[in-house]
Amino acid sequence: MRKFFIFCLIFLILPFSLSAGVCYAESESRDIPILMYHQILKSWTGDYIVTPKTLQDDIKYLKNHGYEPIFVEDIINFCEGKSSLPEKPVVLSFDDGHYNNFFYAYPIIKEENFKANLNVIGGFCDFSTTSGDIDNPNYSYLTWEEIKFLHDSKYFEIGNHTFKMHNFKPRFGIKRKDNEDIESYKKALEDDIMKLENKLKNDCGFSTDVFAYPFGVYSKESEEILKNLGFKAFLTCNEGINKVTFNDNSALSHLKRINRTGKLDTETFFQKHHIT
Ligand SMILES: [Zn+2]
Repeated sequence: MRKFFIFCLIFLILPFSLSAGVCYAESESRDIPILMYHQILKSWTGDYIVTPKTLQDDIKYLKNHGYEPIFVEDIINFCEGKSSLPEKPVVLSFDDGHYNNFFYAYPIIKEENFKANLNVIGGFCDFSTTSGDIDNPNYSYLTWEEIKFLHDSKYFEIGNHTFKMHNFKPRFGIKRKDNEDIESYKKALEDDIMKLENKLKNDCGFSTDVFAYPFGVYSKESEEILKNLGFKAFLTCNEGINKVTFNDNSALSHLKRINRTGKLDTETFFQKHHIT
């Protein structure tokens, strides 16, 4: 009798688990555009400068086309098999930590109930904080207090963009210098990146496992060093739309981004990149 009961139970459960499996298979990967912004300014536009109006038009366009904002952290969780993603996810990403991101972008993102990833350069933020040369949308950078505010607002996720390795010379981004031995390189990289990580922890009260490569420069050895430091997702400047798969973290090593130039209007920009 007991065996018969178990037999019937299997027959009852089997069709449900099979159909659930089919649903799961259909929804296990996502195409994710990550848009890369830098400065938001009213009076200029350029390859790395977008007006507040354009940013708002972009968000409205994305909403109208069914896109839902996510953090890079959400991509990590999806790739680690921990949580799902909306059908049409999108990431807005801001690089360098400009004060105008707080001054112009934050109110728009809040008004639109959107969210964004923001990758800060520690040295610039430290200078703003200690010099008192702050609050000018045209050239200032965020202070630690403002970074904490944006993080705590839940509208922004903060990523590491190095403390002082956002230069062309003597080192190009985080690239290993000619004739630099691997041990010295490893130490230089670790010291710099952990300096920002510790600042975020001590002055802002959080840590991040998202790293944005300055100028999109990376190598096999830098990737290994950063992964050993605990970083899980890496933002490049390689252009394209990401294909990510549930429970597969391979895409996290080189997440692509599309630079949001200020030279194109919203419609033209999105059509050009097939974000429809
Ligand atoms: Zn940068």
